[in-house]
Amino acid sequence: MLVARNLTKNYSNLQVVKGVDVTVKQGEIVTIVGSSGAGKSTLLHLLGTLDTPTSGEVWLQDVNLTTLKGNALADFRNRNIGFIFQFHHLLPEFTALENVCVPGYIGGARKNQVKERAQFLLETLNLKDRMDHKPNELSGGEQQRVAVARALINTPAIVMADEPTGNLDSKNARELHQLFLQLRDQFKQTFIIVTHNDELAPLSDRQLTMKDGKII
Ligand code: ADP
Ligand code: ADP
Repeated sequence: MLVARNLTKNYSNLQVVKGVDVTVKQGEIVTIVGSSGAGKSTLLHLLGTLDTPTSGEVWLQDVNLTTLKGNALADFRNRNIGFIFQFHHLLPEFTALENVCVPGYIGGARKNQVKERAQFLLETLNLKDRMDHKPNELSGGEQQRVAVARALINTPAIVMADEPTGNLDSKNARELHQLFLQLRDQFKQTFIIVTHNDELAPLSDRQLTMKDGKII
């Protein structure tokens, strides 16, 4: 599904990712753990094309992401990679349903199809009665589930999450973990998750530990 070879990232004369290789299979949940400053977020951003490597390559399915630029890159990313962050960045003026639909509309799919899939995802995430609520009318856990539905709207090949439970209480965090497992089992959804949360590690298929810019 995803192959990264010899990735490096330099910030001026500081190398924060040092020749990392990663291979992820479809349907795998891979977690990236390690202490603060180890380079986890930087690596995730390189894998997700949110940032460009100083050297090395990232392939998603058969596409060399390092060759994509500008609109082609933005379009590919929107269709194929779903992102979940600690802070969900939902649009406050839009309802839950509208928030989930936005990347679908940008992707150019038919409006009715996007809306049907958004409704299906929100129902699956137990938000059937919350679809027409705006973010400030939802609890923290509900907001994060809306963000998960949004990340899945374009049936991305891979979902990348950076501390997705960082802002959740332990009950909501556990529920989000169960949801990731369900999505993997039901849809063979692939995940790469950066986490501090020790509870998530046993749920992952593989755990990568980063230290000082390398996977150890
Ligand atoms: P982690 O996610 O493991 O906490 P990061 O990937 O955020 O680590 O950061 C790794 C290192 O890269 C840190 O030393 C951080 O200060 C540095 N770094 C991250 N982003 C930048 C940037 N935009 N400019 C300069 N240094 C950065
Ligand atoms: P939590 O247990 O996560 O803190 P809350 O007490 O924030 O949950 O919310 C409990 C329920 O009330 C949620 O289902 C949420 O949708 C609903 N709710 C919270 N705030 C509002 C609001 N301003 N308007 C409408 N519904 C709300």
